[in-house]
Amino acid sequence: MQRVGVFICWCGTNISSTVNIEQVVAALENIPGVVYIKDYQYMCSEIGQNLVKDAIKEQNINRVVVASCSPRMHEATFRKAAAAAGLNPYLVEIANIREHCSWVHKDKEAATQKAISLTRAAVAKAILNEQLIPGEVGVEKRALVIGGGIAGIQTALDIAEAGYQVDLVEKTPSIGGKMAQLDKTFPTLDCSACILTPKMVDLALNSKINLYSYSEVTEVNGFVGNFEVTINQKARSIEMEKCTGCGICLAKCPAKKALSEFEEGLAKRAAIYTPFPQAVPNVPVIDRETCIKFVTGKCGLCAKLCPTGAIDYEQKDQIVNQKYGVIIVATGYDLINLDRFGEYQYLDHPDIITGLEFERLVNAAGPTGGKLVRPSDQKQPKKVVFIQCVGSRDKSERGKAYCSKICCMYTAKHAMLLRDKYPDCEAYVFYIDVRTAGKGFEEFQRRAVENYGVNYIKGMVGKIFPGDNQLQVNGVDALSGELLQLEADLVVLAAATQAKPEADEVARMLSISIDRDRFFTEAHPKLRPVETHCAGIYLAGACQGPKDIPETVAQASAAATKAIGVLSKNKLVNNPCVAKVEQAVCSGCLACIKICPYEAITEQVIEEKTRGKVRLRRVAEVNETLCQGCGGCTVACRPGAIDLKGFSNQQILAEVDAICR
Ligand code: FAD
Ligand code: SF4
Ligand code: SF4
Ligand code: SF4
Ligand code: SF4
Repeated sequence: MQRVGVFICWCGTNISSTVNIEQVVAALENIPGVVYIKDYQYMCSEIGQNLVKDAIKEQNINRVVVASCSPRMHEATFRKAAAAAGLNPYLVEIANIREHCSWVHKDKEAATQKAISLTRAAVAKAILNEQLIPGEVGVEKRALVIGGGIAGIQTALDIAEAGYQVDLVEKTPSIGGKMAQLDKTFPTLDCSACILTPKMVDLALNSKINLYSYSEVTEVNGFVGNFEVTINQKARSIEMEKCTGCGICLAKCPAKKALSEFEEGLAKRAAIYTPFPQAVPNVPVIDRETCIKFVTGKCGLCAKLCPTGAIDYEQKDQIVNQKYGVIIVATGYDLINLDRFGEYQYLDHPDIITGLEFERLVNAAGPTGGKLVRPSDQKQPKKVVFIQCVGSRDKSERGKAYCSKICCMYTAKHAMLLRDKYPDCEAYVFYIDVRTAGKGFEEFQRRAVENYGVNYIKGMVGKIFPGDNQLQVNGVDALSGELLQLEADLVVLAAATQAKPEADEVARMLSISIDRDRFFTEAHPKLRPVETHCAGIYLAGACQGPKDIPETVAQASAAATKAIGVLSKNKLVNNPCVAKVEQAVCSGCLACIKICPYEAITEQVIEEKTRGKVRLRRVAEVNETLCQGCGGCTVACRPGAIDLKGFSNQQILAEVDAICR
């Protein structure tokens, strides 16, 4: 005999201001099976949970319905409370009368009727709930970090520090990401390489960390605790163990016309190259598209000169298969492509550059040895115009509606670096408004104006016209309404940050989601900012949204903590709400195999005896460890042979019935 207890939460005024709680209580009183109803201001509080526990014990309740917020928020809370009172936690059902009702309706009467319907449906389902026992799976005590920028580096170091093995996969020949390209960093103006390089070296020397540079993850299967991952280690054409990093090959290579990716195309590099002097690993790579040996079959000079015989033109990509307990995605960001912003003439004039190019031009290890010169004639500029919000806060199709968050600060930094190095050079900044929310950020930007004499102009630039010697920047001063025409020697564009172009592919491979701007989506924007919806996969850094370095590092350490939480367990509890096949009903069409995103269904051949004869029949079988309970197969199965435990067809229909009554 089912005895249902219903607990209705006011959620302060979140629910009670739109839903008439008294009316809900009254409407539930006559439902068969409901033996106890209680409402309370905050059911998730300790007092509220005790109401549930006490009622289970004192009223012999064996099914619990909590009408409250989304199950994402507190299903686990109420399941734990039920378990503490001796009830199987899967006998608890949540009716979401907040997100699905009070928050989205204004009409109190209609919202109250909807809350009644939703709670009635939950009661109907709870009556059919069965006890479920979760299984257990072991945990592979190894973490995979994808992306070797500051986010990936910090995460890997933190996990290794806790004593676990980490593999870091970086797509390019060296770790470091965008931070390696920066000159000084706001808000402290310390040298980027000076604070990043020690971390890169720590990572290289850490015996718990294995670095797969120039590599990519190509396939991910499995689930939390047991991910099966394939990594493609691209052929470097160098035997890494033999190379001493002496650099002879780089110096002597005759093919020196490729544009350096690290120098943002402002310098040339050889076909055999290490991206920058502090690269980790400090082993070159041969760019096979520009190497004479690969293109024409001639040359081969580097192999002749290499003192250790490390060059290997025959080297092939290596495939590595490895198991991991957790995965951290730290693939970073890109700058927006400026070819759709014709008014700024970025593609047409060498003296119109991005902020990242500016970083390389003022860097002592950069292409000009730290001398800021115009790319067109190598002359030092006398007037530099910085333009903020290029492509950011732009709702049109070509731009990004969001604020890129870092560019107000790095523009202030650039202007200060400029005025510090060249006090006779004027600096003008066009801005919509200046956003400097961060510790010490406002003070930093004010210093640019007050101490460094940077001229801030509130207004946008309409067009840049290249002249004979200078660039003419036409804009509006929004405060005075005046049209402005500034002659500039160099223009620096604070281009919007955007998600990596391959983010969709990575998301599909990992079964995680992306938002409308194609940044990876966190499980909850406030309460689970580093988790994804896929258990065991976490996010770190700018792949989740624009971030500066302090925020990136904080999130990376948070992701590491979450990962360590999983790795420190010997067993993980399996979700028992998994699919099961009624083999007698299964027609063997195997439509479910195609639909299952987790490859949890396999074909089985079973023996059947009919009228004394044995015949073989193919049917589907679910691997309960792999099944994530998405329910896709139950919809695909035409004979209705598959049901999801805890969400059976019978339960869903009972809910629909209760709503329609
Ligand atoms: P990234 O630095 O982008 O690193 C991501 C890494 O992942 C890269 O190495 C990439 O190759 C790798 N990767 C990508 N996809 C894959 C894949 N599929 N598989 C394997 N590897 C992959 N912040 C500050 O706090 N102070 C500053 O002064 C400052 N100045 C800035 C100036 C400019 C001009 C710009 C553009 C940014 C500046 N920033 C600054 C912001 C800073 O660059 C970011 O906060 C930081 O780089 C974010 O680090 P990340 O590791 O998340 O991403
Ligand atoms: Fe350069 Fe290729 Fe010749 Fe080596 S073989 S020196 S990489 S061009
Ligand atoms: Fe490495 Fe040989 Fe090149 Fe020296 S010459 S950096 S050992 S590949
Ligand atoms: Fe514009 Fe500043 Fe936001 Fe960058 S941080 S998009 S420059 S407001
Ligand atoms: Fe696969 Fe079905 Fe489980 Fe979904 S519910 S993971 S489709 S077996």
